[in-house]
Amino acid sequence: MLAIRGLRKSFGGRVVLDGFDLSVEPGEFVALLGPNGSGKSTVLRCVVGLETPDGGSIEVGGNAAMVFQKIHLVGRRNALDNVCSGALGRLPSHRSLFFSADVREEAMRCLDRVGLADRALDRCARLSGGQQQRVAIARALCQRADVILADEPVSALDPQAAVQVMELLKALAGEGIAVVAVLHQPELAQTYAHRIVEMRAGVAA
Ligand code: ATP
Ligand code: MG
Repeated sequence: MLAIRGLRKSFGGRVVLDGFDLSVEPGEFVALLGPNGSGKSTVLRCVVGLETPDGGSIEVGGNAAMVFQKIHLVGRRNALDNVCSGALGRLPSHRSLFFSADVREEAMRCLDRVGLADRALDRCARLSGGQQQRVAIARALCQRADVILADEPVSALDPQAAVQVMELLKALAGEGIAVVAVLHQPELAQTYAHRIVEMRAGVAA
């Protein structure tokens, strides 16, 4: 589902990724650990096209969606609209921003999947941090993600909300999505991930 081979990336003269390899199967939940600056975010950003690699190859079998530590939702819009926006990539660009009944129904199913159907019409700014992160995951589902790349998805959450998000990511992997989550808590990685990959100086340690 995701195959990264020999990924290389430098910023200025600084080599950040020096031949990084990672393969993730459908249904697999991989935790990416490593010290600050070891290149974890850069790997995920290369996969979704937010950075251009200098070398190597990235194969994604389907759609890849990113979930961030700083949750990028439109706080003034309700949860349903935010989830609907996940569908934008497959809608014709000339369409105005009224989501069709089809898209809204799909978005409702995604919200239901993350346990927030009852909050669909609440503004995101009024949801808790953990709920907002689950809305962001619902948006990734509305992107019909085959691969979810989560960059420190629980670092800003309290322990209870973190556990909910980890359980959700694991459940989504159980349904066949390939999940890669950057984590700073080894104990969460050990509890929830199928496999832990440690990064050191731009390669898998
Ligand atoms: P953290 O755990 O702190 O999030 P990380 O493992 O995610 O660290 P990256 O964000 O991938 O690390 O950064 C790896 C290195 O690349 C760092 O030295 C960082 O300063 C550098 N870097 C990342 N993005 C850029 C950029 N756009 N321009 C210049 N340097 C960058
Ligand atoms: Mg990072």
